[in-house]
Amino acid sequence: MHVSKRNFLRTAFAAPLAATLITKTSFAVAGHQAAAQTTASTAFTLPPLPYDYAALEPHIDRMTMMLHHDKHHQTYVTNLNTATIKNPNLQKQTPEQLIRNLSALPQDIRTPVQNNGGGHVNHTMFWRIMKPAGGGEPNGAIADVIKTNFNTFANFKEKFNDAGTKRFGSGWVWLVRNPQGKFELTTTANQDNPLMENMYPILGNDVWEHAYYLKYNNRRAEYLSAWWNTVNWDEINTRLRAAK
Ligand code: MN
Repeated sequence: MHVSKRNFLRTAFAAPLAATLITKTSFAVAGHQAAAQTTASTAFTLPPLPYDYAALEPHIDRMTMMLHHDKHHQTYVTNLNTATIKNPNLQKQTPEQLIRNLSALPQDIRTPVQNNGGGHVNHTMFWRIMKPAGGGEPNGAIADVIKTNFNTFANFKEKFNDAGTKRFGSGWVWLVRNPQGKFELTTTANQDNPLMENMYPILGNDVWEHAYYLKYNNRRAEYLSAWWNTVNWDEINTRLRAAK
């Protein structure tokens, strides 16, 4: 009897304990799956900055670069993953393909892909068209495009900076190649990219306050002027070739 009673007690205690463990395990598994469905997509990824955060100083400061790349750009990537998570076929496309065909997307994700896909494409270009000890006079084919269309580099910069200064609110200023093969200056609002209007962006500058406010405060024109000291003309020539 003594042994039996012990066994009974063990069984009596064991049963609810087992039930509790199973319940907790099930809950944990369900919770893990729920988390995986909303946060684990890594179809689109943040490209590493191709130089140190401080490499563009004094024209763009280290803290601005750190926040701009690690926080702002990362957020566009994360939100693009979230927007497309239920559409594995969309996650197989490049971000450029997605933003070129916004009207083909399911209506409920069109705006988040426009904003965050645009943000991802814009910033991926932006880091690459700058470099440490950049700037100077344009060279190669882009120098010819500027001379043909704007007469002088000084005149091109003045027109580009003026367009960027006048872009109301947040957005970008661009040199684009239009579908007829002509080059023109344009600006876009928010994170819109010229690809959304069948224009190819040769180069662009970010005029959101997050791009300059820590160092330049409200002086956008001063930032636009200094930015030319960071420009990577080799990369811009690569983009010019890709536009054809
Ligand atoms: Mn930005």
